[in-house]
Amino acid sequence: MPQDAKRPDRERMVWRGVVEEYRSFMPVSDRTPVVTLGEGRTPLIYAPELSRLKSAEVYLKYEGGNPTGSFKDRGMTLAISKAAEEGSQTVVCASTGNTSASAAAYAAKAGMTCAVLIPQGYIALGKLAQALIYGAKVMQIKGNFDQALDIVRELGERSGKVTVVNSINPFRIEGQKTGAFEIIDTLGAVPDYHFIPVGNAGNITAYWKGYKEYFKAGISSSLPKMMGFQADGAAPIVLGHIVDHPDTIATAIRIGNPASWDNAVKARDESGGIISSVEDSEILEAYRFLAARESVFCEPASAASVAGLLKTEVKSGSIVVCVLTGHGLKDPDVAISQISVPEAIEATYDAISEELGV
Ligand SMILES: *Cc1c(COP(=O)(O)O)cnc(C)c1O
Repeated sequence: MPQDAKRPDRERMVWRGVVEEYRSFMPVSDRTPVVTLGEGRTPLIYAPELSRLKSAEVYLKYEGGNPTGSFKDRGMTLAISKAAEEGSQTVVCASTGNTSASAAAYAAKAGMTCAVLIPQGYIALGKLAQALIYGAKVMQIKGNFDQALDIVRELGERSGKVTVVNSINPFRIEGQKTGAFEIIDTLGAVPDYHFIPVGNAGNITAYWKGYKEYFKAGISSSLPKMMGFQADGAAPIVLGHIVDHPDTIATAIRIGNPASWDNAVKARDESGGIISSVEDSEILEAYRFLAARESVFCEPASAASVAGLLKTEVKSGSIVVCVLTGHGLKDPDVAISQISVPEAIEATYDAISEELGV
């Protein structure tokens, strides 16, 4: 690694982000300027309540701990680093929200212009706020995610001037596979089951790739079953056909024609796993359970993995990892819709102690 004289030694000792930490597995060279925000090394949290319910050892890989609050940062660090290496000035993406937040942040770090296309009315408030505050050019389109992605692909092909950083960008998958490395490094074991929400299906593709690479390198000696979950109203892989009007409260997986469809099916079949679906009501139940019982606040799409676990039989005593893809504060509207906001009471000791019953 080239030494930077301006930096104190201490800085080289902290976690350097997924590209540096897993450099030997990354398609980078000395000419790649690594653009990082210190993503990765997210908590792997033991979940006692879920473990008891499933008679298994259940862990939550909390990707809300990434710099912009979702796993998208793992892939974006590499996608933007490679765009910088190629001299790109502008990056563009279609997004259900988290990709745009992440692209906006990493592009700003690299001094690039970032343009994002988002489906009007179907993006969680926290994500829109992020893309805007990081300085991206945000375009809401009168269409859904799949239409936005079609336009972005065409921009990449026809304009010749912009780099597309959607998960069709192969570097996104390469960066995201580090999630699997971290799970094995932290557990010192390979999970028997890996539960994960499926939208565009880039993440299930990436995790499977990561598990296989550690296996091939002789670092691990088994592979997990990949257990993917779509939302009922947006379950093209389960149905076996494109869904023209996908609908679910979990906006991050509101996708009717996944870009990595074939690879998701491969991950399922090669691993002996499943891709199934969960209802919005089951997603919300898992979402509230995670916050109230395991003290982990994730966004609705993330809870699809745990909703899947709750209704799937796993072998007793097995090691289970559920990926929680994004932070709960991404989507404050859903959180508030799930609780009742308390009314104001008198600002007196008596009123408060009476309310508390103490
Ligand atoms: C992007 C995203 C997903 C879906 O991941 P895919 O790679 O598109 O399958 C799930 N949850 C959250 C929070 C996301 O941001």
